[in-house]
Parts: sequence; structure tokens; C-alpha cells
Amino acid sequence: LSIETDMSYTILLYYKYTTLTNPEEIVLEQKELCAKLGLKGRIIIAPEGINGTVEGLTEATNDYIKVMNESTLFKDIEYKSSVGTGNAFRKLSIKLRQELVSGHLGIDDVNPNVTTGKYVSAEELHEWFRTNKRFYIVDMRNDYEYKVGYFINSIQPNLKNFRDLPNTLPQLSHLTDEVVVTVCTGGVRCKKASGLLINKGFKDVYQLRGGIHTYMEKYPNQDFKGKLYVFDARITMGFNLNSPDHEVVSNCERCGDKSDLYIDCGNIHCVSHRHFLSCEKCICRGDKFCSDNCREIYTNFQSTLTNISQSLKS
Ligand SMILES: [Zn+2]
Ligand SMILES: [Zn+2]
Repeated sequence: LSIETDMSYTILLYYKYTTLTNPEEIVLEQKELCAKLGLKGRIIIAPEGINGTVEGLTEATNDYIKVMNESTLFKDIEYKSSVGTGNAFRKLSIKLRQELVSGHLGIDDVNPNVTTGKYVSAEELHEWFRTNKRFYIVDMRNDYEYKVGYFINSIQPNLKNFRDLPNTLPQLSHLTDEVVVTVCTGGVRCKKASGLLINKGFKDVYQLRGGIHTYMEKYPNQDFKGKLYVFDARITMGFNLNSPDHEVVSNCERCGDKSDLYIDCGNIHCVSHRHFLSCEKCICRGDKFCSDNCREIYTNFQSTLTNISQSLKS
């Protein structure tokens, strides 16, 4: 008799907009549930709902879904799952915030339970691509996410941050009468962003159900090229990455070679974000800075340290 234990890990990505009258209590409940199941990850709780990415043993993530489906507030969530590594997250972080997606949209804020885009399923969108339907994909993710993977012919309103969205809308003014499909990682940003477009007078706005994650899972390496940026230790992910159909769409920011490898800038005071695209070759060469400016700051800092330690010795 052999008892097989499944030691595989699964990562769940999910959200739900639903009014939580007592979000503090939900935070405690989630903390207890995740601790019991040994899940790690990041969950945001807000008066408008829940948004999370958690990793655990596959059995534990299945149990998590089961428990959530038994609750009146969180039943019927569509979970996106992918293969975990066991260390996608260092810890469990469950935070109470004002909103689910960081950076609120100010006076243009939308209640996605009232105003939101029509849903287009991955299957329908796939069909739209195949039948040459006239539509425009607007990618609601940040520029560093877009760089390593995107839908062919999609528009990225050059967002450094989601809160920039209202300011970047004039760039999309030629699309007000067109079929617009908003996309993001798992759908949580589009639920609001599509509502904002509607409020701004866009007439035919859709959002991709289940986000890019679901599309890639169903149609790996088709229409969406490259990898999906994710907010955990994997940094990027994909499906069927060993297939000859998989393409690397981004370039090393140092030498320009094709690469989708993100590394941290060697200058800890780097202002241009935590990480940048490098490549094996540049890393081997010891080029660990996002820019010459960062290298200079680092080098100056190191020589100041050397000077100080020498003057202390003498
Ligand atoms: Zn390079
Ligand atoms: Zn830098």
C-alpha cells in the first residue's frame, strides 16, 4: 500500500467586487483561513471587495476555494490558477485598504458594481481575432508589465501607474465610437477602468473576462505574445513556454538583445523602479545597473566609502 502525497504547489489569482460592511472582520477571517491552510501571498480587503494572489500546496488551494465557495460573500469567484514554485511569496500579507487597485481614480472614481464594461470571454475574443472583427484592445497595465508581453496590435496608454489613467484618456479619444476591449492581468483593474471609459463617453466598451491570465491559459502563445508579468517572485509567467510558438518580445535595456529577464538595479536608490530588463550576457559582464546614471551613483558611493575607511585607518 502506498500513500501518494501531492507536493505540487498552485498559485491562485482572484478578485471580487462586493460591498463588505465589515472589512476588518474579513481581514481576520482571511488571516485565520490562510494560516490554517499554510497559504502565503498578498490579499487586499477593501469596503468594495477582495483581491488576492495566494500560493500553497495544491490541496490547500483547493480547500481555500471550497471554503470561499461556502461563504455568501465570496461564492462564485472565478479563480485563475497556475503552477506554483513553493516560494512565490515569502509571507502572508493581508491588508485593509480603501480600494482594491492602488491609486484611486479621484473624482472620476467609478463604482464597478454600477458601471462596468460588457464581458467578452476568452473564446469570443479569440473568435474576434480569427474573424477580423474591428476592435481595439486597450491594455490597462503599467508600462513595465506591458513590455514583456502584450496582445498584438494593442494600445497601451503609457501608464506608469493605474492612477494616471484619467490623464491619459485623451490619447484614446479616437476610439469613443469603436469597439474597445480593456485587458489586464486577471480582470480586477478592467472592472473599474472599463467603467471609467463608459463614464467618459466611450460607447462600446468590453472587458476581457478572467483577464490575460485566462486568455493565455486557453490559447497559449496565440494573440498574446511574450510573458505575463505577475506580482510575485516569479516576476513573469506563461503557459507552454517551451513551445516553438513562444516568442520573447522584449529587449535587454542595456545591450538591446532579446530578453525577458528582469533584475534589480544595483543602485538601491534607483528611481526608475525596482527592476529592469537585462540579459544573461550583460549580467555575466557584471552590468547590473539600469542606467549609466545609476552606475555612476553606485561607483561614487563606493569610492566615498573607500575614502572614509582609508581616512579612518590613517
Ligand atoms: Zn544585454
Ligand atoms: Zn537604476
